[in-house]
Amino acid sequence: MVKDNPFNDAFSHLQRALTKIKISSDILEQLKAPDRIIEVNLPVKMDDGSLKIFQGYRVQHNNWLGPYKGGVRYHPEVNLEEVKTMAFLMTIKCAVAGVPFGGAKGGIIVDPKKLSRNELKKLSFAFIDKLAETIGPFTDIPAPDVNTNPTIMAYFVEEYQRKCQAQSAKRKVNFTEGEILAVVTGKPVENGGIEGRTEATGFGGAVTLIALLPKLKSLLGSKNPQELTVAIQGFGNVGYHVAKYLAYEGFRIIALSDSKGAIYADKGLGFKEGIDIEATLACKKEKGMLAGCYCVGSVCDVRNKFKEIKNEELLSLPVDILIPAALGNVITSKNSKNIKAKVILELANGPTTSQADKILAKRGIVVVPDVLANSGGVVVSYLEWRQNIEGGKYLKEDVLKKLTRKMKDASDNIWQEAEKEGVTLRRASYMVALKRLTKSATNDT
Ligand code: NAD
Repeated sequence: MVKDNPFNDAFSHLQRALTKIKISSDILEQLKAPDRIIEVNLPVKMDDGSLKIFQGYRVQHNNWLGPYKGGVRYHPEVNLEEVKTMAFLMTIKCAVAGVPFGGAKGGIIVDPKKLSRNELKKLSFAFIDKLAETIGPFTDIPAPDVNTNPTIMAYFVEEYQRKCQAQSAKRKVNFTEGEILAVVTGKPVENGGIEGRTEATGFGGAVTLIALLPKLKSLLGSKNPQELTVAIQGFGNVGYHVAKYLAYEGFRIIALSDSKGAIYADKGLGFKEGIDIEATLACKKEKGMLAGCYCVGSVCDVRNKFKEIKNEELLSLPVDILIPAALGNVITSKNSKNIKAKVILELANGPTTSQADKILAKRGIVVVPDVLANSGGVVVSYLEWRQNIEGGKYLKEDVLKKLTRKMKDASDNIWQEAEKEGVTLRRASYMVALKRLTKSATNDT
């Protein structure tokens, strides 16, 4: 049956886990309904003097394991159902990763590329102005997501601090300086951020894949990275970092895409050596898009041995590993039949619909699910939060070491659960998450 909306679609992953474990209907009903949905109208004085109202959302899904936690997305296609879905995924992800946070998500309907820096700053202030009463270092902790970055997180802290100062006279909100910084993660390092957060999700995804490689040997035909090819959809923060770390480990990245196009190092072009990730990033920065970085006739230098392909084509390339690292719902019942990769590492949130998930499982394609594979970001966010609360400073080396340990443990745990129960990695992830959530809910009552 085709599900009617993305939340139900994501929730059906959880329902499938119920064939293997029993949870009370009270728990199930509470996980089905987010704790709180906040809709805000955000007035912004534009540079031309006009007033524009933007619409924003914050969904707090569940906090049995700890304060609500989740990113804020700036995108023209943000909608409430999508935000609800991603808040739910955060609840599951934190439980899978063993991070003491709950699930939340936020978004503003806006194309940030059409705003000036000044307008973007005012919009970010307006969002926190409206949400200040419901977020906080021990209640709900926002973070970056698509089209938001450390600079925007610094704006969030600035506004939150201003609101706290204004309120403290009236309501005695007496947070320490560190606790105020802990209201948001993903901040610039010089403003209380943590070394290693920028690369955490991509790096964590690479660690997960490498940890699972020996177990996937028979499916892939090799556990030697040099013999494995990779295609990555999305060349933003997550896509770039996973490409960088996998290339460093010897994997051959042969296709990349962004919102404007895709490049492919086909046989006879750069297939043997793979794409040079740093050179491609430099080219993308210069040309503004990946599609500008391919061979045109004889104008083709040794580094840029690519041809341009359509975005959709990337998903069905004959590669060993496919990594969706852009938006949700890109692998559907329509295109999943054409996927040739043997393993899919989900670094985007919710890239695979539940129908597609069933098709992929039937076809023997192993999906390393988002709630496991992209949890590196929230693992390091937790370290940033602790660093702020405790007033310390972690070194990057320590952060990446702790992250590596945590991702390996989570990957081993989920693999073992999947083997023991004879289920997919996604179903095993939901089973582990449900056990942890149920335990915490029952302990609290
Ligand atoms: P980003 O904004 O830095 O990058 C997104 C990339 O996707 C850009 O290169 C964009 O051009 C590309 N893109 C957009 N539409 C596309 C399309 N139709 N085809 C191909 N590429 C397209 O965002 P990000 O932080 O890298 O996040 C990417 C995904 O990872 C999102 O789904 C996000 O929710 C998820 N995620 C991010 C983090 C994190 O720490 N940043 C953590 C967990 C999950």
